[in-house]
Amino acid sequence: MSKTEEDWKAKLTSEQFHILREKGTEIPFTGKLLNNKETGKYTCAGCGTELFSSETKFDSHCGWPSFFEANKNVGHREDNGYGMNRIEVFCKKCNGHLGHVFDDGPQPTGKRYCINSLALGFQKEKLKILKLIINGFIFA
Ligand code: FE
Repeated sequence: MSKTEEDWKAKLTSEQFHILREKGTEIPFTGKLLNNKETGKYTCAGCGTELFSSETKFDSHCGWPSFFEANKNVGHREDNGYGMNRIEVFCKKCNGHLGHVFDDGPQPTGKRYCINSLALGFQKEKLKILKLIINGFIFA
């Protein structure tokens, strides 16, 4: 995906631009998706690519939405900025910065993907009620 800096500025809010394109970090405990418990898919706020499932979201108390697993669209690379040695995670499709991954997450992976809420979109699972009804019939 080849968008120019101007294209991204037109598409994103200034806060989203700062995070996704300039590797910024949102203020902790401010993100709209931090306490989101709904079932669905978390997508890239830049390009819409699916990145995380609600099934891997957990309450890390760190102030940013946290997941113990990322899907194949999430890239990993070393980040030595700010005097720290961290692993940055980004959207492979648009190269947007998402956050970092740490080794203090829960099982089964032990990973904590610490992701800026502003770097994410959310698509609520539409078939959830239907699935519940079907399961109700099967197990009734
Ligand atoms: Fe993206």
